[in-house]
Amino acid sequence: MPIKFPFSRRAGPSDAWTKCPRCEAQVFNRQLERNLRLCPSCGHHFRMSAGERIDMLVDPGSFEERDHGLEALDPLGFVDDRPYPDRLEAARIKTGLRDALVWGIGRIEHQRVALAIFDFRFMGGSMGSVVGEKLARCFEAALIERIPAIVVSASGGARMQEGTLSLMQLAKTTAPLVRLDHAGVPFIAVLTDPTTGGVLASFASVGDVVLAEPGALIGFAGARVASDTVGEELPEGFQTAEFLLAHGLVDAVVPRGELRATLGRLLRLLPVPAADDSPSAAGEHARGPIGTLSTLAERLGGAVSESIGIDVDPGVPPARDNGDGASRGSVTSGRERRP
Ligand SMILES: [Zn+2]
Repeated sequence: MPIKFPFSRRAGPSDAWTKCPRCEAQVFNRQLERNLRLCPSCGHHFRMSAGERIDMLVDPGSFEERDHGLEALDPLGFVDDRPYPDRLEAARIKTGLRDALVWGIGRIEHQRVALAIFDFRFMGGSMGSVVGEKLARCFEAALIERIPAIVVSASGGARMQEGTLSLMQLAKTTAPLVRLDHAGVPFIAVLTDPTTGGVLASFASVGDVVLAEPGALIGFAGARVASDTVGEELPEGFQTAEFLLAHGLVDAVVPRGELRATLGRLLRLLPVPAADDSPSAAGEHARGPIGTLSTLAERLGGAVSESIGIDVDPGVPPARDNGDGASRGSVTSGRERRP
């Protein structure tokens, strides 16, 4: 005899409960929301929205979002089974976000940080021109304001609907980190489930400290592709946070409940030196091959954001235009915008 539920299908169990993929327990959604989205039975870390992350990490009321008005255009006129603008619109309606990354300035245990958070719900957290631009601005603000940068990643990689323009973001997000490095401004990468593709292959794997959440999938390509590429069987679980910790790519696997305190401790341990103390205040570092590459990458990155015509939030001057004076332009004579 069929069981009849005393409530309508819309408010039915499928909406109220989530099955834990690890222990298969049925978890009440409200319970997940109250418990940092951790499975109460086995501790499985469910994915979080950018908003939930911000609430969890920063001191209450301290987060000020920046560049929230940036929106992607459709420079390639890309259509797969539907046009890219339609996908963007659907993702905006679903998430209430304009793109897959939120960034701003906030405090963690009273310490000011430039914080960027991916939201996997928005087109799989994919990195296109807007995500890359926001990350570059986040890093540049960290450099100018001399505060640490933290990025919490959750991404399937580069956004295929923006084609090679998405791939440009790898260089664009990594180049400012060279300047942060030379200025002694720390960058902490927090890898959550999943951190893959072009995001792992760029800024996410080059943090001064790389943290990961337990059980997070972290890898460049899918397991089978990776295995086929190197032509051998790869060990079980080679794309997990724990495996990468054991093999040196990750510095610590931190349970979500301890993440805020861990970041607070790291921020106290990694003070930003005064501007005059930074080893490369005079900009002499950029003569080597890395300096040359980063300057080149920077110029390409600038070209990308201009060709896409990103809509800049009025009243918020792009951080890149403020000039940090630290290391820019020692390979080329100044980094002028193209006509
Ligand atoms: Zn579970």
